[in-house]
Amino acid sequence: MGCPTCGVIAHSKGRRLVQLVDVPCFGRPVRLVWRKRTWRCREALCPTGSFTEQDDRVAAPRAKLSTRACWWAINQIRREHASVLGLARQLGCAWATLWTAIKPLLEAMAADESRFDGVERLGVDEHVWHHGSTRPVAQGGRGPKEFTGMSDLTPDQHGRPKTRLLDLVAGRSGKVYGDWLTTRGHSFRAGIKEATLDPFTGYKKAIDDHLDDAVAILDAFHVVKLGTTAVDEVRRRIQQQIHGHRGRKGDPLYGIRNILRAGAENLTEKQQARLHKAVLADPRHDEVYLAWQCAQQLRTAYATEDLAAGRRIAEHVLKTFPTCPIPEIKRLGKTLTRWREAFLAYWDTNRANNGPTEALNGLIELHRRIARGIPNPDHYRLRMLLIGGGLSHPHLI
Ligand SMILES: [Zn+2]
Repeated sequence: MGCPTCGVIAHSKGRRLVQLVDVPCFGRPVRLVWRKRTWRCREALCPTGSFTEQDDRVAAPRAKLSTRACWWAINQIRREHASVLGLARQLGCAWATLWTAIKPLLEAMAADESRFDGVERLGVDEHVWHHGSTRPVAQGGRGPKEFTGMSDLTPDQHGRPKTRLLDLVAGRSGKVYGDWLTTRGHSFRAGIKEATLDPFTGYKKAIDDHLDDAVAILDAFHVVKLGTTAVDEVRRRIQQQIHGHRGRKGDPLYGIRNILRAGAENLTEKQQARLHKAVLADPRHDEVYLAWQCAQQLRTAYATEDLAAGRRIAEHVLKTFPTCPIPEIKRLGKTLTRWREAFLAYWDTNRANNGPTEALNGLIELHRRIARGIPNPDHYRLRMLLIGGGLSHPHLI
């Protein structure tokens, strides 16, 4: 073995045992003992002195986990929705030992700008990630309540949109999104043909300012959600009017609150019967039923196979909702009218599908629960990028 500094043949100092946490086997933690070769360079002018054999394929320098254990854990989180604590238990090490080992690998993947290549349809969305203190992280708080998430919704060769969470940035504002777009550089921005968003003017402004060639499209998931929220509001208002209190067990409207949130096409016969029974229980329930039908119309516009037919339903919604006697539906109609162009763009582009944003939100929600809250925003981002498909590496399955 030549000295890595001066190249002079080094003298063997024998071997040193290094114990590594390895992939568990037969349900038991495993330790891998690496008999590392050690040498000493005897060249008088060389500063190297003693040195030890290194091989990143086995383990990184000074690592406590073997490289394959790190990738095993990362893939368990990504594919099996495992918790870091649960994996540490299986490995027979501490949570911090595992996280310290995998964090640099996640960071390296997140820093690789090539993962932003080829994005043509970009989604933006936000979610609340904590309800704690909003003081800056440096002052012991957890920073902004919300995270703005960017996702790659570009369809593959079969026309199915990818579901890839590209990034998460703390805060919710047009500036947050705009700054992120600026950081990505010109060629990324020039490649974006379609940009989906929820009805938030801040995002719209960022798209208009930074993505001049892109068509802005209201995300179907959020529009459908606005409809569902409107029905919920009508139900609560009528409930108050009739009973003078919030819904409770035994109230007919309260009993169907979840049925009202679902799509009519997903209701079983039994649920349909329950819905009709509750509606007929009081003539004042008609308003709830009507609001529900309006929300269903919105769903149908998106679900209709034929794009032109779907667009006609959407136009009908724009024409009728703003004059609806139900105030909640009227308000929804006005919102959609304000967003008319971006709302209708869904049917003019090749359908920015409803599924991906919804699926990503579901994954994020699931992992927040699995981790029982992640107090550090950087860790949260890395974790969500991993499970949201935003990272890539040959070792990532
Ligand atoms: Zn040397």
